[in-house]
Amino acid sequence: MNGAEACPFCQRIAQDDVTHQSEHAVAFPDAYPIAPGHTLICPRPHVESVFELHDAQWTGLWLLVRAVQRTSSSTQAADGWNIGVNSGGAAGQTVEHAHVHLIPRTIGDVPDPRGGVRWIVPDRADYWTRP
Ligand code: AMP
Ligand code: ZN
Repeated sequence: MNGAEACPFCQRIAQDDVTHQSEHAVAFPDAYPIAPGHTLICPRPHVESVFELHDAQWTGLWLLVRAVQRTSSSTQAADGWNIGVNSGGAAGQTVEHAHVHLIPRTIGDVPDPRGGVRWIVPDRADYWTRP
């Protein structure tokens, strides 16, 4: 359980400070949302990477992602969604408890949304401008 004592997500789980939960996973609002409704879904055990999860945990995590999306769809307007996992420091992960970002998107929230998650590497994102 490396780092679980100081983990903000483990603290939320211990305090039941979550908005959705299942046997293997929980969800709660991102504390610094990049869009209204930005939600994090994470496995209950303190593992750094989603790839450490066994099959039931993996399935439970992604089933909860879908359940949160379905609930959110009925309570807030969204024209699209981004789903993102930063797995490892090289990929941008800053909280070392595996999690999935679920981000509602609305038309016009950024000037040109084309490429979406491709913008993690800005120099190569806009492939449609390439010959
Ligand atoms: P990542 O960079 O993928 O590890 O994302 C970590 C996410 O956790 C960021 O979007 C933060 O805004 C969010 N965050 C950090 N601390 C908390 C917290 N205590 N409760 C909820 N979200 C948090
Ligand atoms: Zn944790």
